[in-house]
Amino acid sequence: MPTINPGLQPFDLTGYRGASGKNFFTETRVLAEAFRLNSTNQTPDYLDAVNSHLSGLGTLLGGRINELTIACHKEGKWGELVQYDNTGNRIDEIRYAPEQTELRKIFYDYGVVNLDCHASWRHEFSLQHRMALAILTNMNGEGGVACPLAMTEGLIHALRAIGTEEQKEKFLPLLTSPDSPSHFMAGQYVTERVGGSNVAANRTVATPQSDGSWRLNGEKWFCSNPGDVWVTTAKVANTNTIGLFLVSRLRQDGSLNGCRLLRKKDIIGSKGKVTVESLYEDCEATQLGRTAHGLANLIRYILRTSRLHVICGGLGHISRAIIEAESYIAQREAYGKKLAAFPSVQQTIAELKMLQASLMLISFRAFALSDAEHPLALMLVPLLKVVTTQYSAVVAKEAMILHGGNGILGDFSVLPRILNDAIINETWEGTHALLAEHAIAAARRPKVAAAWSEYLKAETASMPAETKTLVFELHEEATRLMADDFERDANRMYLCELMWRIFALCETQRALQHAPEAAAYAPLLQSFVEQGARLPFRARAA
Ligand SMILES: Cc1cc2nc3c(=O)[nH]c(=O)nc-3n(C[C@H](O)[C@H](O)[C@H](O)COP(=O)(O)OP(=O)(O)OC[C@H]3O[C@@H](n4cnc5c(N)ncnc54)[C@H](O)[C@@H]3O)c2cc1C
Repeated sequence: MPTINPGLQPFDLTGYRGASGKNFFTETRVLAEAFRLNSTNQTPDYLDAVNSHLSGLGTLLGGRINELTIACHKEGKWGELVQYDNTGNRIDEIRYAPEQTELRKIFYDYGVVNLDCHASWRHEFSLQHRMALAILTNMNGEGGVACPLAMTEGLIHALRAIGTEEQKEKFLPLLTSPDSPSHFMAGQYVTERVGGSNVAANRTVATPQSDGSWRLNGEKWFCSNPGDVWVTTAKVANTNTIGLFLVSRLRQDGSLNGCRLLRKKDIIGSKGKVTVESLYEDCEATQLGRTAHGLANLIRYILRTSRLHVICGGLGHISRAIIEAESYIAQREAYGKKLAAFPSVQQTIAELKMLQASLMLISFRAFALSDAEHPLALMLVPLLKVVTTQYSAVVAKEAMILHGGNGILGDFSVLPRILNDAIINETWEGTHALLAEHAIAAARRPKVAAAWSEYLKAETASMPAETKTLVFELHEEATRLMADDFERDANRMYLCELMWRIFALCETQRALQHAPEAAAYAPLLQSFVEQGARLPFRARAA
């Protein structure tokens, strides 16, 4: 009989596959709770339909989607830029591995961007529903899908709102039709070598043509998901006006348009889709909306949508990190007991879940307010872009650390990939400094400040006195800092933290009656805020 090496005997992690096989939606109960809490005007019929739609995606995420994503995030499977065909003609196209193509098709066919075009869906396709789908999509990491989904949804909104009949006829079927061969192949190209934060500094020039079209000349430094059609910004020739333009890969006459894809970016994460540098050389374009309103339309339709999606990115990454950490600590043993039995591990998980619960609650409130065009959304959306993305990287890292060395291994855990995607989300669609400035500027606008005061009055009306005092102390400090030019600028990130704490206390209290899973973290949140704690450092456990 051969001797069995004792070090190779089965052990606690034999056959371990992380959270795969689970339903990512039902595993994330705070998502359903936050959704319901902010959908009180909806019928039970609608809520049930959405619930089963989300649950169906949750099953796919833990199954085929997870497998395909892992398969296409490996050497030899990355999307490639192909500039020339075999006879030396420029083709400037991206080729993806079959696993990435199938992944996109699954999400597209499931209706994450176009459920309202599915004959079988008999309800409205609400913003909250779209956002819940985006959160679930991001539980898979960026995956090559989440960023294209955000950009495709933004372009659909813009086309429906400000597109000409011709633009709508030509592009909406491509972007939304259930039988379209194009799955999320849209983009939004704004950033140039000279910078992304200040769009007014764009150097690309748009020149009007006698037939009403435009020609673009310039470059774009970050172009994610180059595909069939995209929006782009350019300065109208001989003016300082930034216009918004629609560009398609092929010209009207079917020939390749004047957009050269120069180089694939070497990026630390978000590797499922390709990002390139582009050069516009007499690139044919049409204006999208009035050119004089270019910047306003960019913000209103494109950036507004993608910033909401980036918030969902943060929530999705946090949620995946938590279910991975919970799976691991339930199975891994140390010193003869499960990791989940150690009080310090329990405290870490509780703090991560407290963050998740509060951010999920505030975000769904923000989605509802944004949908209603409520002034408070002007402050909440940029604030949440900062806070959810910043905390998502912290939570992903904490979840990795709970895995010990295995958490660092890309072939053991999805967490290294999720962490890198989370870091990119912190910058994409506007850096923290910029978005914090937007949140603070919004908070100082009279109509937003008034809406915030009203919100605080309503939400604190039946709050325990201790929590109410805390909320008003934080609000007073924020108001004082915002009133001073230097304090407001230098303390942007601190102000975001104060604002998050105020909303977190209010929304968690609001959840007490109807969202038991999320409300369970209210006491921990209170002591976290009282102690001025900040992850990754801990509040003192009670
Ligand atoms: C993976 C990836 C994909 C991307 N895809 C796209 C895409 O498809 N389309 C697109 O248009 N862009 C894309 N981007 C670009 C992204 O949106 C920009 O990187 C981002 O907007 C920041 O612009 P920037 O890199 O030029 O930084 P800069 O604007 O140069 O900023 C540099 C630093 O200065 C700080 N800063 C700037 N202004 C201020 C200020 N007023 N006050 C204080 N601090 C300030 C910033 O916070 C930052 O820390 C992508 C980026 C990444 C990483």
